[in-house]
Amino acid sequence: MLSLRTLSLPSPLHRTLSTPSITSLFTSMSYGPAPEDDSAARSWIKSHDGKFGAFINGEWIKEGEVVDNVCPSDGSILSQTHQAPISLLDRAIESSEIAYKSWSTLPPHHRARHLYSIARNLQKHSRLLSVIESLDNGKPIREVRDGDVGLAVRHFYYHAGWAQVLNEEMPNYSSLGVVSQIIPWNFPLLMLAWKIAPALSTGNTVILKPAPNTRLSAFLFADILKESGLPGGVVNVVSGDNEMAEAMVSDTRIDKVAFTGSTNVGKHLQKETAGRGIKLSLELGGKSPVIVYDSADLDGAVEGLVNGIFYNQGQVCCAGSRLLVQENIYEKFIEKVKRRMSTLRVGSSLEKNIDMAALIDETQKKRIQEFVEIGREEGADVYQQTECPDGCYYPPTLITNVQSTSRLVQEEIFGPVLVAQTFRTPTEAIKLANNSKYGLSAGVWTEQLGLALETALSVKAGVLWVNGHNNFDAAAGFGGYKESGFGREGGKEGLYEYMKLKWKSRGQKTVSDQIIARSDNWGKETLAPLPSSPTSSSTGLPSVDRTPKMYIGGAQKRPDGNYVLPIMSHDGETLLGQVGAGNRKDVRDAVQAANKAALGWGKRAAYNRSQILFFIAENLSIRKEEFAKRLDAMTGCGEDEGMKEVEESISRLFTYASYADKYGGSVQETAFYGVTTSVNEPVGVIGMVCDDGERPLLSFISMIAPAIVRGNAVVVAPSEKYPLAATDLYQVLDTSDLPGGVLNIVTGESAVIAKTLAEHQHIDGVWYFGDVEGCYNVQKRAAGNMKRTFVCSEGRDWMVKQQGEGEEFLRESSEVKNIWMPMGESMSGAGAAY
Ligand code: NAP
Ligand code: MG
Repeated sequence: MLSLRTLSLPSPLHRTLSTPSITSLFTSMSYGPAPEDDSAARSWIKSHDGKFGAFINGEWIKEGEVVDNVCPSDGSILSQTHQAPISLLDRAIESSEIAYKSWSTLPPHHRARHLYSIARNLQKHSRLLSVIESLDNGKPIREVRDGDVGLAVRHFYYHAGWAQVLNEEMPNYSSLGVVSQIIPWNFPLLMLAWKIAPALSTGNTVILKPAPNTRLSAFLFADILKESGLPGGVVNVVSGDNEMAEAMVSDTRIDKVAFTGSTNVGKHLQKETAGRGIKLSLELGGKSPVIVYDSADLDGAVEGLVNGIFYNQGQVCCAGSRLLVQENIYEKFIEKVKRRMSTLRVGSSLEKNIDMAALIDETQKKRIQEFVEIGREEGADVYQQTECPDGCYYPPTLITNVQSTSRLVQEEIFGPVLVAQTFRTPTEAIKLANNSKYGLSAGVWTEQLGLALETALSVKAGVLWVNGHNNFDAAAGFGGYKESGFGREGGKEGLYEYMKLKWKSRGQKTVSDQIIARSDNWGKETLAPLPSSPTSSSTGLPSVDRTPKMYIGGAQKRPDGNYVLPIMSHDGETLLGQVGAGNRKDVRDAVQAANKAALGWGKRAAYNRSQILFFIAENLSIRKEEFAKRLDAMTGCGEDEGMKEVEESISRLFTYASYADKYGGSVQETAFYGVTTSVNEPVGVIGMVCDDGERPLLSFISMIAPAIVRGNAVVVAPSEKYPLAATDLYQVLDTSDLPGGVLNIVTGESAVIAKTLAEHQHIDGVWYFGDVEGCYNVQKRAAGNMKRTFVCSEGRDWMVKQQGEGEEFLRESSEVKNIWMPMGESMSGAGAAY
């Protein structure tokens, strides 16, 4: 467990700082220099002749143009790297593919032994790793030594354990194949560990690309892999440029892309991987709020806040960069923050006495300067008191008197800049906290347990710290909601990112040029065809018209466009009914209704949600003959098969009604002094498009039931070809106490509805079951606001339990939030070091 109470000022001393006499005593104290010796690091660089290359199949390959590796602390050149040409990627992938055959089939214990050996060797070289990382990135040696390295080691131990027990714990899952991993510069070694450890543990092989300005710890790691006896090709490190990064994503031999970095690149990757059937996990930016209530231990909060924003010079995706303080303590609290900031020292990274060191490079410094300049122009107050050495340094900064709409409040600065605002009530605090396109993490400070928990459960973010900040451990997942990305790293929840259900294929991995070319026209509304010949009844009179409407907000609504689609019997002879052709307006109405219902529904007791689902099952059961006949009429399956489908649908409703109160989360066994709990929260509003297969009722139920029971609101397009199985459910729903707006049904052309759902800003996830073209277009368009997607183009046999129900659907219906709650008499800032 990493607790970032590592700023050089010991906290007991700090706690007494409020008395002026001790403050002056403290400020008169001076620090002597205490530099870390870097000679071992320099000798390691020399052992490579000062030049690195790509690490492929266990060998160093030095080809391509040479670039400098710079030390941000003083701008000196540490070493050089050959930029691997693209041809080397080919070799890397080939070796990964070959290695995958044996690595993925190793006995679990053997894989565990390899990961264990890596952990042991990392530990052995921890000092060298710390110095290399500090030199290459510019971060304070103390932070790397006490934080990054220990946590990286912990990830390998933790995942060695998973490798050992994987077959028992996850028997239905298998590895993916070759994984591309692209990491940023802010935590080069740690991000490497977060990515490589779970990938290897689950049987995948890896091609890793470190960020261009921080490659050295990845190279040292490669040396350590050799020493650890890892077979060649299991991990390849490529040292290429942006073209290399693009190729690592577009290559059709890649089974998964894992990325940490900026939201813009994340969106780009979501589009690039769309429709290919490969996995993608994104850990992106944040603008994490820190809420300080008047009931907080204010000194503890100051300490946590300072660590939360100034750690690693603020170049942290989960930095607590948005301070929200209760109005009645605002002045007092800000005074304390300023006083604490004035004691921070900025200096060279190897100096053990400093709190903050160098930024990564001049580009980053300029970016931060520009943001602060915006603040000044907008009339905000900028507090900066710390002296900085010349070069790539920036002082700890506090910005007050700033509007919610300011770019300083909304955008990620990625530097040591804290922006403060006030609130009056908890409701307002939560509203402000959630007023962000990001949702990575948040902190809440109060001594009132109830208030802390209510806030933690109401803020939409993947990681919540109560009276603390920046607690991490391999046993708890890390990752975000909204535009902070999707997928988790760490914990059991992180393993799914590197595994697939055994029955699934490895994906087709490519999308045809034709599909891409016609993408702009996909999902455009076409004029609905004219109605076909009228239905006649046995009396010879025209039958009483039964044209089901849409089901929106718990009521039946006529389609906005007033067009209908005929639904014919399976032999094409009889018109069974006409359904409304839903257009964009219908979908938007449905999304609005769903958003209105989502909050209340998500907060209902699980018991209540399960009762409603059981009730739907009961009411469906009363009318099962009617449904079986309808299925036969539409699909021609025969009434017996129709009855089997209805019975299976009832059973499926029972399954998910059962899971309403059995999938809430767990206590994570972290090294934290306190409780870390993972909570499976609803995703929010999920848009769904059902397939056109021969099981229209069962596929519909299999999709909506898990989502609803886990507290989401749904907008669903039933099968385009056989929609009547869903529209016949309206009465069942009306008699089952399901609140209006929780389930909204829009009939019509699948592509039209899917497009609108994928592009809608107020939808949090989209599920699409259909063809490759649909999957491609849905995933590409979902990148707009980075919706989670769950798509399937390979068809499912919904009658087979393994394919049609279970954990996969529950996971897709949930966001995992990890809440960290310290314990002890003084709750604030508890933690343990590795
Ligand atoms: P970035 O552009 O997202 O780069 C991160 C990684 O992605 C690097 O390894 C980069 O390598 C690679 N990359 C860039 N473009 C790519 C593409 N088209 N396809 C595949 N990979 C690509 O981040 P940055 O430029 O270093 O920093 C910019 C901003 O991103 C920061 O100011 C900060 O706001 C944010 N950021 C966030 C995090 C985080 O942890 N969430 C981390 C770092 C930065 P190449 O340059 O070689 O392509
Ligand atoms: Mg560097």
